[in-house]
Amino acid sequence: MQLHNTLSGRKEVFTPLDPLRVTMYVCGPTVYSYAHIGNARPAVVFDVLARVLRRRYPEVVYVRNVTDIDDKINAAAAKEGVDIRVITDRYAAIYHQDMAALGVAPPDHAPRVTEHLPQILTMIGRLVASGHAYAAEGHVLFHTPSFADYGKLSGRDEQALMAGARVEVAPYKKHPGDFVLWKPSSEDQPGWDSPWGRGRPGWHIECSAMAEALLGETIDIHGGGHDLIFPHHENEIAQSVCAHGGKAFARFWLHNGFLNVESQKMSKSVGNVLLVHQLLETLPGEAIRLVLLTGHYRQPVDWGAEMVAEARRKLDRLYGALRELEDVAPTDGVSAPEAFVAALEDDLNTPMALAELFELARAANKAVDAAERGRVKAQMLDAGAMLGLLHQSPQQWFYGQASQTGPDDDATSIEALLAERAEARRNRQWADSDRIRDALRARGVLVEDSRDGQRWRRA
Ligand code: AMP
Ligand code: ZN
Repeated sequence: MQLHNTLSGRKEVFTPLDPLRVTMYVCGPTVYSYAHIGNARPAVVFDVLARVLRRRYPEVVYVRNVTDIDDKINAAAAKEGVDIRVITDRYAAIYHQDMAALGVAPPDHAPRVTEHLPQILTMIGRLVASGHAYAAEGHVLFHTPSFADYGKLSGRDEQALMAGARVEVAPYKKHPGDFVLWKPSSEDQPGWDSPWGRGRPGWHIECSAMAEALLGETIDIHGGGHDLIFPHHENEIAQSVCAHGGKAFARFWLHNGFLNVESQKMSKSVGNVLLVHQLLETLPGEAIRLVLLTGHYRQPVDWGAEMVAEARRKLDRLYGALRELEDVAPTDGVSAPEAFVAALEDDLNTPMALAELFELARAANKAVDAAERGRVKAQMLDAGAMLGLLHQSPQQWFYGQASQTGPDDDATSIEALLAERAEARRNRQWADSDRIRDALRARGVLVEDSRDGQRWRRA
């Protein structure tokens, strides 16, 4: 298997440190509001990677944290006059629901920062004791010149590091590039006791401490959006390597490209921030997921109405092929074709893998004998499962879509109308049959008659 490693800037053959166990950490959401469609991209991309790895290795431990200490959370809580826990519980629950609707399997662990204060404090203590960090005015700062490899992941030299957008200048810093491990909290801010006074952890140290707590000192894969390379991941490396006596932190660094909306960067000021929660009100989660997998994960993806419509048509095609195979059982022991798996194992080439999946759908439409049809069905379902697609029945896909055209268009009423129409046709009551067909069409359900009976699809 090959993965592009941001550390080396090229594709490398991936092998885990322990041949039987892969460890993976992905930076998760800061839960102060709804997730937008860009936040869903790493969740979906690394979900596919976890699925591919789980096929290949006996054990995969996938950790995706929940950041539940953050100044944006404090601001949201203050605004509503509630404890931060009210905000973080609410948006963590919504995040997990939204991701589930996109077919994202829960990671093996979803640790929260508030549950790892002891580990965070221990790690800060080690960094202070070893001279990599220092206390100043209630803060603890990591001293970046103490780590020779600082800047290696992002490929930044000293000057570029200093010019970094998020590098803050502060009087208590020994060096402008030093970053916060711990900061003081005022009386009215959430805080935890520490040897350096009451305060709260900086963002970067959380991930280093939770990765160590759940996965050990050296992990195989670390992922996130490419905006996190600097400073977040650069700082995670500095903290972990220095806290672990120079041992490597993550062996492979993977970063997904950004998602734009109609060719524009998503931003509050432009007013084009699309929330997953809202999109799910009108779109099937599976179609959203397919949009996110249509391009290669390292490339930018441009969200737009045409792409969404195209994803729905593609799923109609795939589920249409599966519907043709409804009378056969998937052949036992047959899995996704080699070319499909090879595409995913080549740095998660989802566009190529999807092309293979459509090839299977074409084969399904052409296959005539039962053995061949059962085999193609097994291949399609298994390939779908690796991408987190095709987990519904064709009925659920086609009915579920139709049910979104109106509040009373539930699947049962469509089912009832179709049954009524079948009965009318058996009795040669053609006028009734046509009347019901027209009624269904008005509700966005197109009925076709074939020799095996009625077929329906979304208009
Ligand atoms: P945040 O909650 O802002 O820390 O973001 C959570 C994850 O979403 C991080 O891995 C970010 O890199 C990623 N992310 C944020 N915005 C986008 C975007 N527009 N496109 C792709 N990934 C994004
Ligand atoms: Zn992180």
